[in-house]
Amino acid sequence: MTHMTTVNEAVDLVLDTVSPLPCEGIPLDEGLGRVLCEDVRSARNVPSFANSAMDGFAVRWSDVAGASPPAPVSLEVRDAVGAGRVSRKRVLPGTAIRIMTGAPVPAGADAIVRVEYTETAGERVVVSRTDGQGSHIRPAGEDIRRGDVVLERGRVLGIPDVGLLASIGKANVRVRRRPVVAIIATGDELIGVEDRPAPGKVVNSNGYTLSSAVAEVGAVPKSFGIVRDDRESLTQAFRDALACDALIASGGVSVGDYDYVKDALADAGVRMRFWRVAQRPGHPMAFGSKGSKPVFGLPGNPVSSLVSFILYVRPSLLKMMGHESLFMPVVRARIAHDMKTAPGLKEFVRCRLDEDNGRFLASSTGTQSSGVLRSLSLAQGLVVAREDQTLLRKGSHAPAILLDPRGRWLQREMGF
Ligand code: AMP
Ligand code: MG
Repeated sequence: MTHMTTVNEAVDLVLDTVSPLPCEGIPLDEGLGRVLCEDVRSARNVPSFANSAMDGFAVRWSDVAGASPPAPVSLEVRDAVGAGRVSRKRVLPGTAIRIMTGAPVPAGADAIVRVEYTETAGERVVVSRTDGQGSHIRPAGEDIRRGDVVLERGRVLGIPDVGLLASIGKANVRVRRRPVVAIIATGDELIGVEDRPAPGKVVNSNGYTLSSAVAEVGAVPKSFGIVRDDRESLTQAFRDALACDALIASGGVSVGDYDYVKDALADAGVRMRFWRVAQRPGHPMAFGSKGSKPVFGLPGNPVSSLVSFILYVRPSLLKMMGHESLFMPVVRARIAHDMKTAPGLKEFVRCRLDEDNGRFLASSTGTQSSGVLRSLSLAQGLVVAREDQTLLRKGSHAPAILLDPRGRWLQREMGF
């Protein structure tokens, strides 16, 4: 028997084929989740001026240093300043300026006395306590100094990062371009979701799963609809779709009479690299490339195509977008009951993951047939059985790919 590509070989080969896309400039408000192409230096101090962290009075420390409840200090209030305003007055010896949080500290002041430590009497304020020299003054540049690198190239922009960039006046950022991903469903049996069911027909659910999966990683899905099992139509559709940055076809990659996808891809100028992988589900799975564009011929079975997407397409798209962390999180799970697995294949078993004393406990979600999307929908993880295993024994441990890391487990472990 000829050597069948293993999952690990297939992942390596696919990832060697793809490289990060060029960079582009985008408005900051589209930046979430994008990967920076530049070190961002601040041209400003943040805050840009010394300001008060409290509502209170701007004072000269030497005036109030000795203030205490039995020996309070009385000062003349010269002005009041709120956030967004600048006082034109100076804090002279024996005086104070009333100040609100965020307002610029007036000239002459070197401490803020919080309002709770004072009593106002007409034009005067009586100070009975202080928090020390310089207290409650946020100096200019306390957060960021002019010239600081605030975010480095390669950074995946998170929510606080977007705010940080806004705070330094960075209205546009340079990030890796997002791939436009062509999605083509193949099959004479396929109908649209709005179409009336008819004997022998199947709704093109893969079109929906795959475009959602592409959008979820932050790439841009572009549907090319349903193409019939006909070599010429397929070739033409693939040629058109290769204008995109990557191509995903589903169906037509096994050894049936109407499985023309591999041939049609070759006709469209795609260099085929492999077309079977030692895995279950998703054993027929074609991969090739045209120039730097990856081309995935995923199996038609709904579970197989999504599992293969997770294993190969998802990391490829992330790499194209400049990410360094390419894979789904993996945890160790305890096996709740015996599960038979296929010899010679790496098997991905759809499992529920329950919390068990802060650990994961995996149990099958039911039939593992590659057409049964329901058991994938019920699963929180894919438990991985190695090629040399034929049984995941109850009580043993195995790695599990977390399908939705926004799960409830961490919260429970942390005592929420
Ligand atoms: P194939 O890989 O073309 O041999 O298809 C394998 C199975 O997946 C068949 O039962 C097809 O009807 C089904 N299938 C193929 N393409 C799709 C699709 N886009 N959506 C849902 N099921 C599909
Ligand atoms: Mg087919």
